Amino acid sequence: MSTATASSVPAALQSFLSQPKQLLIGGKWVNSASGKHFDVFDPATDQVIAQAAEGDAADVDRAVKAARAAFDGGPWSKMTASNRGRLIWRVGELIEEHADELAQLETLDNGKPLGVARAADVALAADMFRYMAGWATKIEGNTIPLNVPYAPGGEFHAFTLKEPIGVVGQIIPWNFPLLMAAWKLGPALATGCTIVLKPAEQTPLSAIRLGELIQEAGIPDGVVNIITGFGETAGAAIASHEQIDKVAFTGSTEVGKLIIGAAAGNLKKVTLELGGKSPNVVYDDADLDMAIAGAADAIFFNQGQVCSAGSRLFVQKGIYDDVVAGVSEIAKNLKVGSGFDASTQMGPLVSREQHDRVTRFLKAGADQGAEAVAGGSAIDGPGYFVQPTVLKHATEEMSVVREEIFGPVVAAMPFENDGDLIAQANNSAYGLASGIWTRDISKAHRFAKAVKAGTVWINCYSIFDAALPFGGYKQSGWGREMGHAALENYLQTKSVCISL
Ligand code: NAD
Repeated sequence: MSTATASSVPAALQSFLSQPKQLLIGGKWVNSASGKHFDVFDPATDQVIAQAAEGDAADVDRAVKAARAAFDGGPWSKMTASNRGRLIWRVGELIEEHADELAQLETLDNGKPLGVARAADVALAADMFRYMAGWATKIEGNTIPLNVPYAPGGEFHAFTLKEPIGVVGQIIPWNFPLLMAAWKLGPALATGCTIVLKPAEQTPLSAIRLGELIQEAGIPDGVVNIITGFGETAGAAIASHEQIDKVAFTGSTEVGKLIIGAAAGNLKKVTLELGGKSPNVVYDDADLDMAIAGAADAIFFNQGQVCSAGSRLFVQKGIYDDVVAGVSEIAKNLKVGSGFDASTQMGPLVSREQHDRVTRFLKAGADQGAEAVAGGSAIDGPGYFVQPTVLKHATEEMSVVREEIFGPVVAAMPFENDGDLIAQANNSAYGLASGIWTRDISKAHRFAKAVKAGTVWINCYSIFDAALPFGGYKQSGWGREMGHAALENYLQTKSVCISL
């Protein structure tokens, strides 16, 4: 295993990191009202790489005022949809022009392998802005024929207007920092909203750089405001702010529930993209080489810090040992190390806290009787590394099967037949995603209908596209991100009725 040193920080980033990090409010980079900062760490080395401004309620309030002014009468509110689309498209282009730098920033701040940051995070973020740019000109209402029973013979012309919901608060996590910002900002901008965005305190850097690119693209002042800071202060202030019309949150289910409570004060609209414990199913008629590689990737991609990770692996009884052995073999051979090392396949976890949380789950799994066929423990520091882990003899009541670990830990369980499988797969408080590996198209379709999950991947896993809606059943959330569906989160429908 190898780890990066501070000297491996690319030169282009060193100048960005050396400048003081501020908040973006009303088109200006400013210090927090308190003047406080917090440390940002490189998870591969446990070293401080930057200091970010610690925004809190006072800064959120300033940002909301700027966003409100931009929404109520600023140039953004008067801009044609076509020009709005052009600016959003330009953000996508700028992300692409700065792709290497953004990928390096993501690897430095989050720990993920550089190749993954470049090919997935940055490329998908650019795509998201371009996809949503096209929607700006296609937001339309309907004309609706009326048949009013108490106005016989009445002639009416009725139609709907689609209007931006207003000032939006967006709170995002640390697992895909730039991409989560893009998923949130894209549809909000396309619909003409204005925004107060709070990145996760673990990974604020790429959002700050994105803020600079958004300014360079020509998005007017006050449309996108960025407040770095902590959840309990800045995040909570966004969720409860009386002048915010809607809050969009991605993160833990626990905090999602707090957001709902805080949003109740002014009944702001809420969308939530929360945790998961997604079932990934391998039938005995699957292409086993493909399924084994797919099952490993479903859990080890992004160090397992993926809300839709295939963390419950259900394998048909006759092939259970072979599949567990195959996934374990991949786990044992994964190169774990600094994301800047070109041979690294799995980086460190994002933070000391996340490292300790995953380690606690590994211990609980062992105590409860799960056997680690691969991995099973943390890797000695300085960075926040843990071993890719495959657990067998896992049972439904174990915490490693019930709770979201958000690390590279998969619990493998056998199933006998279709009936068993659906009951087991749906036995979860979550319902974000699912996967199935089979050559039998009928089985795949039956599973797709029966599973309680917002996404079903058949003979693939972790396929994301700006056009494909993503979101959860049950306690995995409210609403959908991406695709046409995401626009509805940011629109109001107004009915207009004219007597002719
Ligand atoms: P979290 O839910 O605490 O943090 C996510 C975001 O919410 C961050 O920006 C954070 O600052 C903010 N936040 C925290 N408390 C808040 C509050 N009271 N009000 C408003 N905003 C608040 O997630 P975490 O603590 O970083 O990670 C804990 C666990 O959450 C992980 O182990 C994982 O299980 C889960 N998680 C899920 C996702 C996902 O995409 N579904 C992402 C990150 C974490």
